[in-house]
Amino acid sequence: MIARVTLEIALRKEFDYLVPPEMEGLVEVGSRVQVPFGARKVLGCVTGLAETSDYPSLKSIVKIIGAQTLVTPKVLRLAKWIGEYYCCAPEIALKSVLPEAVRHEKAGWRELLYVRVLPLSGELPKLSKRQREIWNILEERRELPLAELLDLAETTSAAVRRLEDKGLVTIAPEVSERDPYAREHILPSQSLAMNPAQGAALAAITKAMDARPDRDRAGKKDGGDSKVFLLHGVTGSGKTEVYLQALAHALEQGKGAIVLVPEISLTPQTVERFKARFSHGPLQTLVAVLHSHLSAGERHDEWHKIRQGRARIVIGARSAIFAPVDPLGLVIVDEEHENSYKQEESPRYHARDVAIVRGQMEGATVVLGSATPSLESFYNARKGKYALLDLPERADDKKMPVVRVVDMRQTVRRGTSIPIFSPQLHEAIARRLDAGEQTILFLNRRGYSSSLQCPLCGYVAGCPNCSISLTYHRQEQRLCCHICGHNQTVPKTCPNEKCRNPEIRFAGLGTQKVEETLGKLFPHARIKRMDSDALKRKHDFREILGQFRAGKLDVLLGTQMIAKGLHFPNVTLVGIIYADMALHQPDFRAGERTFQLLTQVAGRAGRGDVEGEVIVQAFTPFHPAIQFARRHDFVGFYDQEMEFRQPLRYPPFGRIALLTLRGRNEEKVAFSAAHLKKELDQALSAFRDLIIAGPAPAPLLKAESFYRHQIMLRTARMSHLSQALAEMQHRVRLPEDVTLVVDIDPVDLS
Ligand code: ADP
Ligand code: ZN
Repeated sequence: MIARVTLEIALRKEFDYLVPPEMEGLVEVGSRVQVPFGARKVLGCVTGLAETSDYPSLKSIVKIIGAQTLVTPKVLRLAKWIGEYYCCAPEIALKSVLPEAVRHEKAGWRELLYVRVLPLSGELPKLSKRQREIWNILEERRELPLAELLDLAETTSAAVRRLEDKGLVTIAPEVSERDPYAREHILPSQSLAMNPAQGAALAAITKAMDARPDRDRAGKKDGGDSKVFLLHGVTGSGKTEVYLQALAHALEQGKGAIVLVPEISLTPQTVERFKARFSHGPLQTLVAVLHSHLSAGERHDEWHKIRQGRARIVIGARSAIFAPVDPLGLVIVDEEHENSYKQEESPRYHARDVAIVRGQMEGATVVLGSATPSLESFYNARKGKYALLDLPERADDKKMPVVRVVDMRQTVRRGTSIPIFSPQLHEAIARRLDAGEQTILFLNRRGYSSSLQCPLCGYVAGCPNCSISLTYHRQEQRLCCHICGHNQTVPKTCPNEKCRNPEIRFAGLGTQKVEETLGKLFPHARIKRMDSDALKRKHDFREILGQFRAGKLDVLLGTQMIAKGLHFPNVTLVGIIYADMALHQPDFRAGERTFQLLTQVAGRAGRGDVEGEVIVQAFTPFHPAIQFARRHDFVGFYDQEMEFRQPLRYPPFGRIALLTLRGRNEEKVAFSAAHLKKELDQALSAFRDLIIAGPAPAPLLKAESFYRHQIMLRTARMSHLSQALAEMQHRVRLPEDVTLVVDIDPVDLS
């Protein structure tokens, strides 16, 4: 038997190895193996089996790693698709489907010394007072880790060994499973009685889940993803309850499911809602959680719980789409419009799109959910490619909050400097403080001020490595770059030699300054800031949310970290400090992002008994993204935005491939980009609907000391283009210090 092995070292091809007789039957597609390669031994994955090989004198596999194949043939097929569609080497695609902690065996099962009580034969022997104390604990617990026992009994292991000598207990190593949520006390929850809209949505989903693919697809030639649903429900419309009951249906069918949520909304609160429903009753199953804040060991254990079929529901961020759930009945992608589903390093996959492909491959139903669907998904729903399910109202009869837009230009005219709080917002906060209600304030920029500027000569302190200005961080008293992390001291006078103005000053706004100003305006308010600077430790996030929930804080102030999924009944006011901050970026999705963010943030208000109010401060109050968000009008926004995208064939009318060339020497980068463009013109002349734009300097020309130039391709038939680009990527000759990055369906155009 011959095994085809894809090696972890990047070589872009498979190698043949002999399966030695003692491994016959044990090596399968998906097995992890160690094989000789030159003088080294390297790791790889069996990606195929064959009877014969074209190569003579093959070497043998050295050993199989792990008892179970790690990658199922189904996930392997998915990895292959990723490699092809996203133009990356197969071994890189393969790496992404297995967590690091599982691939390398270092973070294997944890073994702990356990003390276990043995059956007593006859009388209890005579024990000293200290031994007696230990024995009392043991009698009650029967079995527990040695370390825990020593803690409880305040004793030493020598004392426990003496009980072992007397034949009362054994002390032996045992596998101890790590549970990242072991400390949470989760109360079981029951299914809610659904409102008609929820009921209709659930019925459509379960009907698709019950359909037998072979029978029900026959005769359908339109090729639509008939098993993909777009669940468009306003914030608080009860989408999660629909997910939960659809999950229950998958379990009833004996299948498993994957729930994807953006990393940022993978809060303990979210995880709890899923664990609580399946912690008991006939559908009881473990709910595994996969995200980047787990330790390697925790990730290893969670993954194996899934692989062994003990956890049949997985909730996690982007990479959880590769979880080895088998059979897979349902995939849910919550907040499907979120950019964080896109991986910004190779393989540059989009987890929502991978979910749809995986669903197709494995016959699983896919549900995309959002209050603000991406234009791509809504377009697919309008065309009938996906089935659209609508939840137009909040589930618990709560009204949507009233949204008021404040024209900040008026406020500027009245005051002198750029204002942070309009009189309207100021007064609204004061009212909440008096009433004992809570406020959330949102500004999507951390730091104190966005730049250091000289009003005389116009100098702006910029990053030496990146083409952006430095942000002032008050606590550290330093200027920091939010791209590369560079930081430096704050100059006392203007660094421009011809100027040297001592009055150099800060401009623009960050969360730290809002916090400071707020403290001055409301000295008695209890305020906490949540952004990546404020959260240094792993538990800070849940600690602050816990305080807020318990009513120990009046105002929670933060960046996009607080925009998603939080549910606090006592929040009656949401203030958005600068709604148009992201509106004027050179990205065709700037309007869409602003609309989404405003809708999401506004959705945090009025989740309880008191009606909510949202105050949106803006310098361009009449921009459609702001006005449609004010009216909670997604379809209105969609229609006008589509009009702008169609003539340019931006997504969803076409798909984009973004080619970025980067290098330290700008001339070489520019030259290479021009060269690449010529090659593209030739190689792609057969693509009739193709638009090639550029080359041009990237909006962020310089990042981390690398200059960047871009070429943007647009076509309706991306899989063909990917193929051509992968081929091209191999062939094209570029200077050694210039690299080409191919990003298919990019979400970040900077
Ligand atoms: P979404 O995920 O759409 O933002 P949630 O699932 O968080 O909305 O639901 C909002 C609130 O409504 C939650 O407190 C939830 O428990 C409640 N809820 C959902 N469905 C119902 C229902 N059928 N009856 C009563 N309350 C419901
Ligand atoms: Zn920088």
